[in-house]
This record gives sequence, C-alpha cells and structure tokens, in this order.
Amino acid sequence: MKKIELVNCKADADTIHYVVREDIGVDLLQNSTVDLFIKYHTDENVKFDLREIPQSILQLPLSLYLLPITYFCNVELVIPEMDKELYERLPKIYNTYSKIYGPFKDEWRGKLTINTIVDTPKISIAKYDRVVFFSGGVDACHASINYPGRRTLLVSIPDIEHAAKNSGPLREEKFSLIKNFSSVVKSDWLLISNNFNNTLFKDEDIQNFLGKQRELNSSAFVFDGWPGIKYLANMCSVAPIAYYFGINELIMGSSFEQIEDKLLLNYDGANPELTDTIGFANTHFGEQEGLMVRRSKKVANIIDWCNAHGVKTKLWACFCDGTTQCGFCGKCIRTQLNILCAGENPREWGFENFSEKKYTRYIKSYQYKENNPCWLWDNIETINDEKHYPYCDEVLHWLKSIGYKDYHRCSQEKANTKPTVLKRLTSFSRYPHYLKKIVTNLFGNNR
Ligand SMILES: [Zn+2]
Repeated sequence: MKKIELVNCKADADTIHYVVREDIGVDLLQNSTVDLFIKYHTDENVKFDLREIPQSILQLPLSLYLLPITYFCNVELVIPEMDKELYERLPKIYNTYSKIYGPFKDEWRGKLTINTIVDTPKISIAKYDRVVFFSGGVDACHASINYPGRRTLLVSIPDIEHAAKNSGPLREEKFSLIKNFSSVVKSDWLLISNNFNNTLFKDEDIQNFLGKQRELNSSAFVFDGWPGIKYLANMCSVAPIAYYFGINELIMGSSFEQIEDKLLLNYDGANPELTDTIGFANTHFGEQEGLMVRRSKKVANIIDWCNAHGVKTKLWACFCDGTTQCGFCGKCIRTQLNILCAGENPREWGFENFSEKKYTRYIKSYQYKENNPCWLWDNIETINDEKHYPYCDEVLHWLKSIGYKDYHRCSQEKANTKPTVLKRLTSFSRYPHYLKKIVTNLFGNNR
C-alpha cells in the first residue's frame, strides 16, 4: 500500500513545524513533500513554551487532520507517536464520521501505522478549566458569556474557515475581535494560525473523488463535504496548548437550528455526535453550548448580558475580507434582523454602516434569501404585533404580516428569475468601462 508519512515534527517556543511526505503515485497532497505549521499568538498573560510538550501531543493536530484520508483512499498513513486515549477512540471516530458523512465502505479503507502509542502523562495543576472557541459570531459570543472569567481561555482559529486568508484586513480584525471580547468577559485569549487548509491536500480533487467515484451523498456531505470532514480536526490545533495548561474541556457554541416545532441538528462537521467522539490525554469536548437555544434568543441574551455589564461588543457574522462587515450578505442581513428584533440598533453591535432606509428597501424587495428558511422563521416568529420597535419598526411588522413561508417563496422566485432584456441593457454595472467614460465626459477628470 502506498504511504503518506509524517516525517518530522519540531517545536520552537510558539510554533510547531511539520513535514509530511507522500509516495510517488499517491497524488493526494499539493506537493510530494509539504511543510506545515501551527503558530500560537497571545499576550503576556498566557506564557507557554511548546518545547516542553511531548511529541504524542505535538503530533496530534496534524494526525487527526490527516486521518480521514485513510477512510476512503486505500492509503497507508504513518504517524510516529500517538496519545493512547486518542488511539483508543479511533474506531468510534471512524464509525461516527461514517454515520454522518457516509456510509464509508470497508473496501475503501487504507491503513494507519503508529510507531509508538504513548500514555501521555497528565498535567496536574491546571491554569484554566476550559477552552471556549471564539469566532466573533453569535454562537461563539453566546458560549463565551456563559463561561466568562479567568478560568476560561478564549481561542480563535480563523484558518478553519474555508478560504481563510493568513494576512490582510480581516485577519487583523480577528485579532482585535478576540482581544476586545476577552476584555469584555475578562478571559485570556489565544489566536491560532495554521496553513493546513491552504497547503496540504488537493482538496478539490478529493472532493470530486468522494462525490463522483465514492458517490457520497448524505446531507452532511452535500452541505460541507470534504472540508467539513476535516473541520473538528483543525479545531484540535488547540490540543498542545490545552495540554500545556491542563485544560480538560473544550467548549464550542452549537449551531443548532429550529423551524417551527422541528429541532434540526446540524448535519455538518460541527455535529455534536462528532465532538463527543474526540478526546486525548484527559481533554474532551464538553456539551456544545446553547444546544437547544434559538439564534434569536442567543442574540437577545448577548445584548442583555452586555447591557447588564455596561459593555458593548461586535457580533461578527460576515465572511467578506474587510475591517467592516458588508451588511448585505445572508449572514449580515440575518444577524442585523436578530438585533432589530431585540430592539437594538445594529450600528451599536458591529454593523457600523447600517442604514434603516437601505435595510428596509433590501428586505421589502425580497432580496434577503436563506436556503434554509429556519432563520427566517426564527426571526419573524419573535416579532411581537403589539410592540413598537425602536429601529425598523415598519419593516418588522411588514415581515410578520407576510410570514416566513411567503417571504421565503418570493425571495427564492426572485433569485431564480432571469433579468429581462431591458433590465440587462440598463444594468450599468455590466459596462463599467463605458460608464466610467460617460461620467468622465460629463464631469471632467479632476484628478
Ligand atoms: Zn456580510
């Protein structure tokens, strides 16, 4: 069987460096030898030295990230050292991923070779009780306000997002988001960067292979596919730091959804059944926070908590790469609607460009489209007919009168309608060059 091998793992004070190699003909990695890293950024409150951490823990994040390739690519994965508890959990991890993303077939399976299985010594004096994962979004903020204080370490891993960039305005914003929020909840903070998603696998080829040749088509696979299968492994980039500080519990905010009386568990890489399977050296995922709390309720809770503590925070939902949120992508519109339903001004909670007029126009022209109407239902259902809302009152009551089913149908129809010939001809954005010429001719070029 052809091999992928973790050939080197070395730490300096704040960075782990890995080298992974594949045999000729495997063709699953972007290069036959790949250099990878995980780097930990923090401030003087969080002092650590990765050189004191055993190899069975240093190798763990990348081992977990590489592991799924053995589920369906007939390849042998060679890992020098693995923690015993993680090793004992591998069959359960396989079965759960197979249940949610598969079923995977036995004949697809490769092989895992571990040179040494290590009963990693436990750290007896813990500096923190738990990690709370923090992205700046609603679920993460809700988890953080429910575990505030010095015994929590807030951890942000921006690189787990698909197509995340290692530098640029959004990365800087992620630093300031976690620093600011850590002062709101009085917890220490850590930001982790790695190059796993960008550098290691030929992701597009693997995604195609799983869909077309292995014919995976479960709802989880359709939703987030191969990137989703690696999602929790990437979160385990926190493992070395969790071990160093004796942390036993990893908490993530649940992305639970509900529509009317149907409780929908997220069929994706963050499914609670998957978090339950992962553990190492006495550290486990705790129950996902807010597992049964609707998003509208979470936003109201965050706002109440902040107001009671005399603090403000940004709710960061947007994927656009900038220092301000775009305001008009699905997640921005949804979160602003949550804030409006809670009776607050989105400008105060991270949407600095919010305008009542533009927002109202956008909603009323049925441009707000959700693939899953659960978010529409959740928001519209909270709108109280008797109440006067301080912001966007008129459009909120209008939404309630339309109802989520009709709104959803109309916004889907609008999105599916091709523009008419006349509209296409008058759509100036299609002709930026000519438009620029016209404007220049009209007003002159004052530059
Ligand atoms: Zn946005």
